[in-house]
Amino acid sequence: MNSFELPRFMRALEYSEAQKFSIVKKALPQIRDHDVLIKVKACGVCGTDLHIHDGEFGAQFPLVPGHETVGIVAAFGNKVHGFTTGDRVVADNSELCGTCHYCRVGNGKELFCENFIAHGVMVDGGFAEYAVYPGHRVFKFNNLSDADATLIEPAACAAHGIDIIAPHMNSRVLLFGAGPTGLMLAQLLRQNGASHLVIAAPGGLKMELAKSLNAADEYVELPRGDAAIAMLEKLEAENPYGYDIVVEATGSARILENAINFVTKGGELVVYGVYNDDAHISLSPNKIFKEEIKVIGSFSQIYKFPAAINYLDGKKINVHGIVNKTYKLEQWEDCLQALRNKSVIKAAIVFD
Ligand SMILES: [Zn+2]
Ligand SMILES: [Zn+2]
Repeated sequence: MNSFELPRFMRALEYSEAQKFSIVKKALPQIRDHDVLIKVKACGVCGTDLHIHDGEFGAQFPLVPGHETVGIVAAFGNKVHGFTTGDRVVADNSELCGTCHYCRVGNGKELFCENFIAHGVMVDGGFAEYAVYPGHRVFKFNNLSDADATLIEPAACAAHGIDIIAPHMNSRVLLFGAGPTGLMLAQLLRQNGASHLVIAAPGGLKMELAKSLNAADEYVELPRGDAAIAMLEKLEAENPYGYDIVVEATGSARILENAINFVTKGGELVVYGVYNDDAHISLSPNKIFKEEIKVIGSFSQIYKFPAAINYLDGKKINVHGIVNKTYKLEQWEDCLQALRNKSVIKAAIVFD
């Protein structure tokens, strides 16, 4: 094993069961021959962590959550190549089994691995001073701040979205929602075929951020409640031929149902939000059939960390200000509260 001097114990935020967490002192994770041990500098927090808090999304306890881990290489096993201790790195939290039906089929279907292991969900993740990952799921970066680098994981999901959407050059795009992943997807779309992109979202912090990032060509502020319908009808009337690509990134089934009315003939409707399990939509099959509309889902990612790093670390897309609040491990309760009342855009846990 190659390492700098390591302590024997570390501080970690551990859940013994759903909703029961404490800061614990525990032994450093074991390093296998092909593993990299990361001294964590920052770990992003997202809506998934709220579900994990409640024991949903396949969480397995006891658990150290945290699935957007950024830090420096503290140690690595004998079969790991290409790293030096002190390298700044980000970890992909997903591990594939390599042997199930989808892993064997390949062609990107590995995303649906039947024995998928998610660090920070099923095994310990980055809300700890140290975290361990297989070397092939650890990637170097240079320029981003530690807090901004926590956005590489969600940016990788957005990069996967670009592969799924496969935008043609000169596409007109309408994107519902201005959340962190939506803002990164918008910028990636503008660099990969979109000649005109409209963001439609409620006014407020996120919309202001969208403007400051120059994420779109046009911004449509949707009022809350029923007034939004009138605004959507106006938008539809002003754009009778619709958009080549319409992305629903708010997680609202109601908006998704409406979104298809904005898709041009031969265009794409992209289902990109996280919806309630019991949500259903009703669409006209004849509209999909006669207008040859593609309805497509984009969910996660498997091999897009290199792309995300090139775009973010290379300053091709701007993420400054998306992470707008950082917390210490001891402030987890405050952080949970901020997530629940949506007073932060994107938070990160940071370490000294
Ligand atoms: Zn997440
Ligand atoms: Zn598999």
